[in-house]
Amino acid sequence: MNINIAKFGGTSVADLDAMQHCARIIAATPETRVIVVSASAGVTNHLVALANTLLSKEQISDVIEQIRHIEYGILASLGNPKELQEKLDSLLAALHETAMHEELLHRDDLKDSLLSFGERMSSLLFTEVLCRLGVNAENFDIRNVLKTDSTFGEAIPNLDSIKQLSEQFLLPELTSKVLVTQGFVGSDEQGRTTTLGRGGSDFTAALLAEALSAKSCEIWTDVVGVYTTDPRITKAARPLPELSFEEAAEMANFGAKVLHPATMEPALRKNINVFVGSSREPEKGGTWIVRDCENEPPYRAITRRKQQVMVTVKTPKMMHAQGFLQQVFTIIAKHSLSVDLVTTSEIAVSFTLDNPANSVAEKLNRETLQELGEFCEVVIEENYDLVTVVGNNMHSAAGVSSKIFSSVRDYNLRMICYGANPHNMSFLVHQDDSTEIVKELHRCLFEV
Ligand code: ASP
Ligand code: MG
Repeated sequence: MNINIAKFGGTSVADLDAMQHCARIIAATPETRVIVVSASAGVTNHLVALANTLLSKEQISDVIEQIRHIEYGILASLGNPKELQEKLDSLLAALHETAMHEELLHRDDLKDSLLSFGERMSSLLFTEVLCRLGVNAENFDIRNVLKTDSTFGEAIPNLDSIKQLSEQFLLPELTSKVLVTQGFVGSDEQGRTTTLGRGGSDFTAALLAEALSAKSCEIWTDVVGVYTTDPRITKAARPLPELSFEEAAEMANFGAKVLHPATMEPALRKNINVFVGSSREPEKGGTWIVRDCENEPPYRAITRRKQQVMVTVKTPKMMHAQGFLQQVFTIIAKHSLSVDLVTTSEIAVSFTLDNPANSVAEKLNRETLQELGEFCEVVIEENYDLVTVVGNNMHSAAGVSSKIFSSVRDYNLRMICYGANPHNMSFLVHQDDSTEIVKELHRCLFEV
């Protein structure tokens, strides 16, 4: 069987009208057997607010009311079928109970359980939409298959279990049915609900594609593919017909919002073609992400990642000393922080971290700083953005870097990373400058 996995993002399942566009896309492609959905637009943000802010009982009820409003809107446009309403109400009741739990703010397992409700509701509703269109669709609880470790908030998938369980529970169903399941959600060995990190539904789709040896994986969103840069930064941005796995992985890692950063890993391992397109305008085509592209231009795209933190650790003892870097990075690793750019000098090392203020786990916590502070001076600088040019053979092609450098010569570059990887060149810049820098780079690299 040639299987295609289709994932629909939050705006694609925001309301009945949006869902119907998706349903038509599915009905038109018989190979599409597994549907992965995000929570309806806005729902996860509400859930994150519930999970991370100290709220009064009334405030909690208010937020849940806003979520109910979104879900009930879809239910109402379906004519409030009784059975569906009962299922939705029981999910909303369970959500309410979790949100009121006294220990919610301190327990990451409860937070993940709370965050899972968005996808559980949207997948329920979307199944109904598909059935109404004559598709033999069934809602499937992904927690039976998508096994992860217990790193709540950013759980790591267990590939062997996922494969085995997918073959056992998903595969036999696919000859007769289309399964509609939740992105972003998983479960650990003890069966507790976990999540894969914000935007994780793309990753779910890719993981299932890998486990089921699918031929392709479609990511349907609200843009016509991956662009040369975020079209909100410059109108000159244009969609890219094709990208390589490596380029897409770099772009996602360095801030292109269309794909969750881990999405390309399963695709790369199993050579699965990934498509990105707009569920509203499928006729406009999209971006195919493949192993071998027709051409490998030195510049493919420019990405930006906001809210970067720069940490400088410094000790005079580092002079001619050994093991200082190891000490620093052991602490960083222990706290599961992932470092992007690093520069070193004789007595100091600076590195950048992605540390968005509203992430489920605010990572650069007091504990980390305290441990670092025990043997060195620590300086934290915020308000930086990371701008990255993604392309090919950037380290070896003559003139590639000079063109980039000359376009940014008027700006203060706080850190530069170049040479470690043929596919990118990154700058840490002040957040007030980053829009202009991206525009200028785009002009120089793509508009002449
Ligand atoms: N609903 C989750 C989020 O908003 C996962 C996803 O949409 O991919 O982050
Ligand atoms: Mg997304």
